[in-house]
Amino acid sequence: DEPPAERAVPQAGQDGLVLLRRVGVVDPASLDDYRAHGGYTALRRAFELGPAGVIREVLDSGLVGRGGAAFPTGRKWQATASRPDRPKYLVCNADESEPGTFKDRVIMEGDPYALIEAMTIAGYAIGASRGYLYIRGEYPRALRRLEHAIATARARGFLGERVMGQDFSFDIEIRRGAGAYICGEETAIFNSIEGRRGEPRSKPPFPVEKGLFGKPTVVNNVETLVNVPVILTMGAEAYRAIGTGGSTGPKLFCVSGTVRRPGVYELPFGATLRDLLELAGGVPEGRTLRAVLLGGAAGAFVRGDELDIPLTFEGTRAAGATLGSGVVLVLDDSVELPGILLRIAEFFREESCGQCVPCRVGTVRQHEALNRLRANGRSPDGDIALLREVGQAMRDASICGLGQTAWNAIESAIDRLGVFNATQGVADGRESS
Ligand code: NAD
Ligand code: SF4
Repeated sequence: DEPPAERAVPQAGQDGLVLLRRVGVVDPASLDDYRAHGGYTALRRAFELGPAGVIREVLDSGLVGRGGAAFPTGRKWQATASRPDRPKYLVCNADESEPGTFKDRVIMEGDPYALIEAMTIAGYAIGASRGYLYIRGEYPRALRRLEHAIATARARGFLGERVMGQDFSFDIEIRRGAGAYICGEETAIFNSIEGRRGEPRSKPPFPVEKGLFGKPTVVNNVETLVNVPVILTMGAEAYRAIGTGGSTGPKLFCVSGTVRRPGVYELPFGATLRDLLELAGGVPEGRTLRAVLLGGAAGAFVRGDELDIPLTFEGTRAAGATLGSGVVLVLDDSVELPGILLRIAEFFREESCGQCVPCRVGTVRQHEALNRLRANGRSPDGDIALLREVGQAMRDASICGLGQTAWNAIESAIDRLGVFNATQGVADGRESS
């Protein structure tokens, strides 16, 4: 079994935490402990506000999706709520599979009732009486804790018929993924839940119009959802005061790689990459920071001298990077970068569902070209040109985010870090002397 999530939260129990305030503090098996630490006050507030009032608060808060794409949450909720079709569904995307992402696991293991309360609020706001929690199969502890929490909430009147005595029914069904990365793509989740092959569907239509079982569906990531009780409790205005104008609220960052204290850190948006790495203890003694991969395998590398990048959606975008789901993979000078790139390419090759040609073929060609480049140590021009051509084709013509982003990190390593740079002539991209 995996080590408990609390070990991945270096700040557990510290002052100033918003999303992680209960992780490592409450007993995740105890509904009473959850309530003693503020649990279910937000749902009560939601019932006072009414569905439209809840959506208004979420819109006003500026909350955007934390799964990686940063789409405004309130707009999704509003779009689904306004559809005439019935029934409507809520899907919580807990198939946390982006390499280097483990924040949702920490919440699900350490504060499972928070997710259940948040899903109930979302269901109430959009007019859904059923929510699906799609969890990755590799999270057995989170699964057990959520199953226990759902059963307890149901037995105590917080799920099921007439939630908290109100004229509102809502229940949650858990579905487990079986190891395919692509099943975290929102429309592939629908197919998986419906019992079909886990392949993405073309968008549009977006799920808010035509989602699970062809009905209007809101899909939200775990971290996105657990921001909602916070917003309702503190109010949209106070929430907006956390973070920056363009990226409001707190954010969880998953720090891994060659860093002294890897784990999940919570910071307000706007802290710099340097602030975060200082919290995580920096690189081991005697080592130099070489690069940081921001946003995971679909993200981009930044150099060790770019640590003043603000950790916001707008700040990372301006710096030619991405925040994605909050992956911060730290690489010191002991790391062989071509090996990392090869691993990323192998990952996409393995995980491509094969449905569309640019991705099915492109991820294979990309992996092959990187293999040759790594073996040769320097760049035969042809392979870099091939990578660029294949990368562009995948970006332009793939159906889903996997193919569209499979070249991002590799491109940034070539252009930004100088990996395989023939003029430098060093395989790992370090300056030659
Ligand atoms: P996307 O930009 O296509 O969509 C983002 C969300 O907004 C979706 O829910 C989509 O339905 C909705 N949306 C977009 N336009 C809309 C519109 N006009 N009307 C209504 N809804 C609209 O992105 P995506 O393919 O869903 O996700 C890509 C992101 O997922 C990447 O950033 C990637 O890093 C991240 N990702 C995260 C993980 C993880 O484990 N957290 C795993 C894989 C990928
Ligand atoms: Fe499948 Fe790749 Fe096409 Fe996405 S881009 S549908 S993963 S083949």
